[in-house]
Amino acid sequence: MKDLILAGLVSERSTIEVNGVTIGGKEIILMGGPCAVESSLQMSQSAETVKKAGGKILRGGVFKPRTSPYSFQGLGLEGLNYLVQAAKEQDLLCVTEVIDSPSLDLVVDKVDIIQIGARNMQNFELLKLAGKINKPIILKRGLSATIEEWLLAAEYILAAGNPQVILCERGIRTFEPSTRNTLDLSAVGVAKELSHLPVIVDPSHAAGRRDLISSLSKAAIAAGADGLLIEMHPNPAEAVSDGPQSLTPEQFILLAGELGGVAGAVNRVFVCGGEQEDTLEALRTKIDTIDLSIIEHLVARMQIVGKIGDQKRLDRVKDTSREKEIIQRLVNLAEELQLPPELVKRIYPLIFEFGVQSQIKNKVALDKELELSFYPLGSK
Ligand code: PEP
Ligand code: MN
Repeated sequence: MKDLILAGLVSERSTIEVNGVTIGGKEIILMGGPCAVESSLQMSQSAETVKKAGGKILRGGVFKPRTSPYSFQGLGLEGLNYLVQAAKEQDLLCVTEVIDSPSLDLVVDKVDIIQIGARNMQNFELLKLAGKINKPIILKRGLSATIEEWLLAAEYILAAGNPQVILCERGIRTFEPSTRNTLDLSAVGVAKELSHLPVIVDPSHAAGRRDLISSLSKAAIAAGADGLLIEMHPNPAEAVSDGPQSLTPEQFILLAGELGGVAGAVNRVFVCGGEQEDTLEALRTKIDTIDLSIIEHLVARMQIVGKIGDQKRLDRVKDTSREKEIIQRLVNLAEELQLPPELVKRIYPLIFEFGVQSQIKNKVALDKELELSFYPLGSK
């Protein structure tokens, strides 16, 4: 590739050492935290979660380059202090985004890593300034940047004198509207083929929705990513920015607990912080997370039951023999997995009953609607 003089592939991959953390080595580095720093409490809660999960780096934006000038622009210096303090309390490193020369000056001596965001990937003056400092730079891929443009942006930083660049794939703009961006996982392999720099993945800005973060994170590790940058908020519903794509603390910890297996399968390592802990609090967090997923599965089941109802006649809604068959199958499974079969025998009739009731309700409502469209009110 043209002009990749310093960022181009050499015989050995680069690792970046920063205050006791190595990025680009065998260990997968987890970074997490809110999109934007909002308060001291929000940051200390986030830091606690990152620590519990086995994460090493706390994120939080204090200068937010927002698409709309009317969206929250960040707390600036006040937010920076919350970020730095929270990271320190939990013995974590911290990263924040800079958008111009004054913001870079303000954060450079306070944070461990500096982020240049997608919207500034080709802010060449900023790249040159980032090349003059002695701090690692996470360089996000631009919204519509090719891999070549991304690597050349990294080359700017290297050419200006800073060899510590970490590439971050964060999704690119495509024609597909079901996710905020499209996570380009092949870019991980391509960037690693063309460059010696570490490559991490941010599944949050790629997906724009929290339900995909877990699977994309695992896929990113399998694809060769050296780390993950994930948005997590103590209360995503109240987040001032990117709430819908932010994991809850429980989800973040649950995901971290699942990363070790994926890392091991591709000859990498990730140690989840919670693995050593079996405190009452940790066990309760696990229970809360499982309960959340039970409810989410029940919601999904009810939605399918609704769709099935649409295909049935009203007098065929209840199908006793299918119910018996399902219970029998699940009782056998419960016995095999050493779960008391009685539990299945009690729970499932209730689940069926509510399913049948909702199907009947939908059918009756639909019939009423049809009747009304045939015989508008007052015409009968
Ligand atoms: C961010 O990390 O909060 C951010 C704005 O990301 P990106 O630059 O990838 O959109
Ligand atoms: Mn964000």
